[in-house]
Amino acid sequence: MSLDYVKFTNGFEKFMPKEYRDMVEHGPFGKKISVSQMGSFKEILEEHPMCAGCAMTLFIRLAMIAVPNPEDTIMVGTAGCGRLAISQAAIPFVYGNYGDQNGVASGLSRGLRLRFGDKPKDVVVMAGDGGTADIGFQQVLHSWFRKERFTTIMLDNEVYGNTGGQESGMTSRGAVLKMAPLGKKFEKMDMLQMAKVAGCAYVATVVPNNPRRVESVIKKAVLIAREVGSTYIQAYTSCNIEYAIPTDKVMEDAKNVENDRYQFTEYVSEEAKQYLAERYGYKEFLPKPAASAGAIPNKA
Ligand code: SF4
Repeated sequence: MSLDYVKFTNGFEKFMPKEYRDMVEHGPFGKKISVSQMGSFKEILEEHPMCAGCAMTLFIRLAMIAVPNPEDTIMVGTAGCGRLAISQAAIPFVYGNYGDQNGVASGLSRGLRLRFGDKPKDVVVMAGDGGTADIGFQQVLHSWFRKERFTTIMLDNEVYGNTGGQESGMTSRGAVLKMAPLGKKFEKMDMLQMAKVAGCAYVATVVPNNPRRVESVIKKAVLIAREVGSTYIQAYTSCNIEYAIPTDKVMEDAKNVENDRYQFTEYVSEEAKQYLAERYGYKEFLPKPAASAGAIPNKA
């Protein structure tokens, strides 16, 4: 797990498939790449078997560009639509039993620290709302209370899309689905608040149609998780099949949902702010200079 694993063994270059050569020569490993350069380099995730227009795939693609060191990153996931794409990406992927992804990530992240010491080896969990808020809830919450140093990203499509449309804890109250025809009777779980109560150092919500914001929150979350503690990102990644969103309206839906009930929010603990400022030069988190005692306020 380093740049070495994408390098060619001497003498074997000419036998490698073109896709592989493209990845080694034009991929993001060992380089600083931004979402603004999309289309000009070989991406970690390009092909996948998910439904046409699925917003989740755009988000996952952006997330793969955003991780600060893809050559030193391991993704952990669980059953659900998202893993169909994540497992085809050109970085290592650990596929746990349903719901155990945060338990697996806890052990993995601790093991990597023992093995590699201070060298950053980032662990990123990416799992659906069913795996994160329902079936894996216990392990998710415990990993946060234990301040395990990895990032959890929820692909919140607000439904069990992979199994035909059952309601999840993250489905909104009243939503009618194929396998929940009477409408959901309970509120959407407030995982953001739970993440804060459990002590996550960074918590954010995003939608996929703002690539720069997706990039920004994922970078911050992964960097903070290296040393400060658990971080959590909740991404609205609609299921156009189960919610009957026409393919050409998927981004419009994301915009509407963002405006209506999924606004961008970002919580950064004081310790994480200081860490980002001092270690990675995030100027916005530098302490503001105190106003001098005798300063005369500006007149309007
Ligand atoms: S079922 Fe829904 S979430 Fe799953 S791939 Fe299709 S559109 Fe995406």
